[in-house]
Amino acid sequence: MGNLAGKTALVTGSSRGIGRAIAVRLGRDGALVAVHFGENEAAAKETVELIESDGGKAFAVQAVLGIPGDAHELIQAFQNGAKERTGESGLDILVNNAGATTLGTPPEEITPEEFDRVFAVNARAPFFIVQRALPLFRTGGRIINISSGLTRFANPDQVAYAMTKGAIEQLSLHFARHLAPRGITVNSVAPGITRNGQPVFDIPEAVEQMAQLSAFKQVGEAEDVASVVAFLASDDARWITGAFLDATGGTLLGG
Ligand code: NAP
Repeated sequence: MGNLAGKTALVTGSSRGIGRAIAVRLGRDGALVAVHFGENEAAAKETVELIESDGGKAFAVQAVLGIPGDAHELIQAFQNGAKERTGESGLDILVNNAGATTLGTPPEEITPEEFDRVFAVNARAPFFIVQRALPLFRTGGRIINISSGLTRFANPDQVAYAMTKGAIEQLSLHFARHLAPRGITVNSVAPGITRNGQPVFDIPEAVEQMAQLSAFKQVGEAEDVASVVAFLASDDARWITGAFLDATGGTLLGG
């Protein structure tokens, strides 16, 4: 039995990439995992199958984030799925991982529409997901918000995206204080450049260049970030709340 046996987790954006690795890891640690996706149902089903083939339990939930009613739809789908499997809809671990990027758009060119879109997906949706999930949370719950090393490492072409991650770190800080009386911890995890299955990671020269940013001279693996999330989700991390965990492989050390 894993250390998360009896717990229920919801991981947004776990059809692919870092979210998938987090869902697989929490499933391996014993949690029942709600695998959220926006568009890619086949990929979400694959994540569910990966968890089940590992002996774990999971189900997929769909909700497009960044549009009106998104948080309501997500939490409703979660409640239905959890009730069907466990007879109740209590939540222990929420990972706000789903994210959209503005990769490669110079500050001079970003449009108000693009700016609003990343904020709607990366900042607004997590806020209302947390708000709607609050009545479901059991004592000792965990909220883990996926930020980015870009809140501490300047890249002007990603300014709008980085601003959304600054916002999610504020979500962690203020909700940490708010939810402490219920024994719920709220923390941020900041990945650096992490292999997420996108085509750029199949180009050796590009990977070599990206790897130079990390003190270890490697790009991160999704599992590297999932390990940090699994720690925060565990009882061992019960005394950590409102924290920023640097999971960039030393990128923020500079040099
Ligand atoms: P990814 O591979 O692009 O996957 C994104 C996930 O989020 C997918 O499961 C996708 O679901 C979901 N998603 C995206 N937009 C959505 C929307 N509007 N509605 C619903 N679901 C949506 O991302 P990743 O690289 O693993 O990144 C995961 C998190 O880590 C993000 O918050 C990202 O900002 C952060 N991060 C990543 C890196 C990196 O180098 N990879 C670095 C720093 C921070 P569907 O495909 O089903 O729509």
